[in-house]
Amino acid sequence: GVDTETILQTRDLRKEFGGLTATDDIDFGIDEGELRCLIGPNGAGKSTFVKLLTGRLEPTDGSIYYDGSEITTLPSHERVTRGISIKFQVPSIYPNLTVRENIRIPLQTVADPANFEERTHELLERFHLAETGDEMASTLSHGQQQRLEIAMAMSLEPNLMLLDEPVAGLSVEETSEIADLLTTINEEDGVAFIVIEHDIDFVESIADQVTVLHQGEIFTEGSIADIRNDPDVRRIYLGE
Ligand code: ADP
Ligand code: MG
Repeated sequence: GVDTETILQTRDLRKEFGGLTATDDIDFGIDEGELRCLIGPNGAGKSTFVKLLTGRLEPTDGSIYYDGSEITTLPSHERVTRGISIKFQVPSIYPNLTVRENIRIPLQTVADPANFEERTHELLERFHLAETGDEMASTLSHGQQQRLEIAMAMSLEPNLMLLDEPVAGLSVEETSEIADLLTTINEEDGVAFIVIEHDIDFVESIADQVTVLHQGEIFTEGSIADIRNDPDVRRIYLGE
């Protein structure tokens, strides 16, 4: 239809750690199929915000709505079942299993046994991991490990992916490969994304709309071009 549907919305989402307010009553929403980047200086509250969305942290106050229902206190694994995929800075692959075995772990929770092997093969092919299928995940390059994690996430057929600094520590080539992968998944599979990222050039290569967090609050939102040229954003984020 012509209407865009909100896939995720927060209301007054707040997280305090002792006397420190990490997220300060955040009202944030994204539409189905949207690719949004979340930027902001260190300590802005980006990782905390995403951990509230995943259920890894419980909010002090406020609510989270996903796909029409409230999920504020829903356990993480149930959010995953409902289509929220989570990827953190620290890779969550199993280093002592082969690449193929890694793919099978999430896949076996959802795939029909009749097409299990076929789905495994498709995922290995799609994410350019077929040649490394029998290798230990620990032997993969950093970029290959990132692709393996994305493949594992995609095996669950998510509607929304949350990525915290997916290209931190990657080379220029690996970064552009991840940018291509994310935009392809967004466009071809219609998966919505919230991507936390420091690298403003990477942000520009993937996102149209950007939300800037600062001191636990939404500082501003807009197109990447507007954000880049906003003198207040340059002051707080780019240190100018
Ligand atoms: P960002 O990801 O934008 O760099 P974070 O969400 O990690 O910011 O942190 C926001 C603020 O909350 C920071 O001041 C940080 O020190 C604090 N903080 C984050 N996690 C914790 C925690 N588990 N305990 C106490 N303070 C925390
Ligand atoms: Mg962070």
